[in-house]
Amino acid sequence: MTREIGTVWFVGAGAGDPNLMTIKGRDLIATAGAILYAGSLVNKAIMQWAPKDCEVLDSKGMTLAEITKWLVERAYQYKTVLRLQTGDPSLYGALIEMVQPLDAAGIDVRVVPGVTSAMASAAAAVETFTLPEVTQTVIFTRVEGRTAMPQGERLRDLASHSCTLCLYLSITLLDTIQKEMHAAGWSAQAPILVVHKASWPGEEKIVRTTLGELKNACRAAKIVSQAMIIASPALGARHWDDLTNSKLYDASFTHRFRRAEKNAETSKKTND
Ligand code: SAH
Repeated sequence: MTREIGTVWFVGAGAGDPNLMTIKGRDLIATAGAILYAGSLVNKAIMQWAPKDCEVLDSKGMTLAEITKWLVERAYQYKTVLRLQTGDPSLYGALIEMVQPLDAAGIDVRVVPGVTSAMASAAAAVETFTLPEVTQTVIFTRVEGRTAMPQGERLRDLASHSCTLCLYLSITLLDTIQKEMHAAGWSAQAPILVVHKASWPGEEKIVRTTLGELKNACRAAKIVSQAMIIASPALGARHWDDLTNSKLYDASFTHRFRRAEKNAETSKKTND
């Protein structure tokens, strides 16, 4: 008898709070025959939704070859096999390295997105990454550590755009961040947000500081890992009183779903 080969699902587990998992991801967990999760970053509380007889393994300490071998073997045993990744699988998740051996083995691969840590950090701090007339662009990047940066992607190049920058995997490289951002023209007073374990119940730390104080502030807060560093001219906008509101809700602006009100003035928000 020939057995049907299962599907391997790469599922974004979200930044830490199990409830940030998508319903699709949770439903897949509930029907999984086997789950391989990245134990260093995925919240184990997510396994509460796994069936009792589900094979669950932490991939911490496994090599790429061991991981893909495990997934291939389980796909021959179960209809639904999950690789649970932290945040979103498409960001710094070695996704393609894992997908290629599965493709080579003829196994069906699917991906379910997740809430990436940059977005969980913005939510934790009630910040926006885009603001009219301030910045309309977000760059997800990292600074060069052991992984070399491709040409044109040094932080000093990217930071020269003066837009929102979300720095992954860079909490141990604060000197480099300070040096590169200064070289790109950011002042020592530029606001910086650092979020450690964004969305993890009871473990989240939010630090608001400046570029000049970044290293001291992280040291004082004892943040040495699992942190998102955000630089943006929009940081702190919640407390500004000279905000230019977006056109979307502007009474003088017509768009696909609403006609402009006659005589409406373009809004400049004042908090008086
Ligand atoms: N795929 C993940 C990123 C993996 S790389 C995602 O989409 O979020 C690991 C880096 O992500 C860490 O070095 C840190 O910069 C960031 N990170 C992961 N979880 C985090 C969290 N809960 N809070 C803040 N940063 C986090």
